Amino acid sequence: MGLADLHVHSLHSYDATATVSAILKHVADQTDLDVIAITDHDSMDGVREALSLAPRYGVEVIPGMELSTADGHLLALYIDHPIPAGLPLEESVLRVRAQGGLCIAAHPTAWGTESLSFEKIRQALEVPGVAGCLVGVEAYNGGLVYTRENLSVARRSAQLPLAQTANSDAHVLITIGSCATQFEGRSAADLRRALVNHQTVPMVGEGLTGLQVITSYIPQYLLRKMGWAPYSAGPDAPISYARISRLPSFQPA
Ligand SMILES: [Zn+2]
Ligand SMILES: [Zn+2]
Repeated sequence: MGLADLHVHSLHSYDATATVSAILKHVADQTDLDVIAITDHDSMDGVREALSLAPRYGVEVIPGMELSTADGHLLALYIDHPIPAGLPLEESVLRVRAQGGLCIAAHPTAWGTESLSFEKIRQALEVPGVAGCLVGVEAYNGGLVYTRENLSVARRSAQLPLAQTANSDAHVLITIGSCATQFEGRSAADLRRALVNHQTVPMVGEGLTGLQVITSYIPQYLLRKMGWAPYSAGPDAPISYARISRLPSFQPA
């Protein structure tokens, strides 16, 4: 069985803290994940770097983004080009479909962020073409402010005709893989098949407390604001801190 984290933010998200290279190094050395998706807020700027570096680290990367639809956040996966923000959910999904991608409803009903409601997801699934592309829901999200929200979200997600997933929504290295999605096979292609057939299994790790996450995130976020981020010079070098302005790959948004 393979393990995937389909919701990871890199420095190309305004509120995240790690470079793509540090994410790949961390995943390779510190997790059991086979596949990750880089899903920055309304950006695919980190995806090309991730796809080109990933084989060196032995990690498979799914190109994606976390799209801010007019109705809430949506993970768009297996796409080549970014989709504009602010469109209705149904239109956003159909644009992903036109690229041959798949969608997962991110953190439905989550407090403190723009989230899809279960009613909206059900409505959208009635629209022709949506159900074959919006194939999954995040039954568990590792980034919730109130992690106990996961209990009711998981229960309500299980009532939807969708693949059940669990993802970290990591904005800092240590939370990557805190939740993960299990699937038959090992590759991104296997995972795609499992998502389409609604055969994924959400897995929740022992988890970090909200306090642990916040005490890791705040210093990392302040470092980012001061222009520094964790960086990996290569699979054999340890993660070190580099000035963001000197990173060859980083294009400020
Ligand atoms: Zn989100
Ligand atoms: Zn997110």
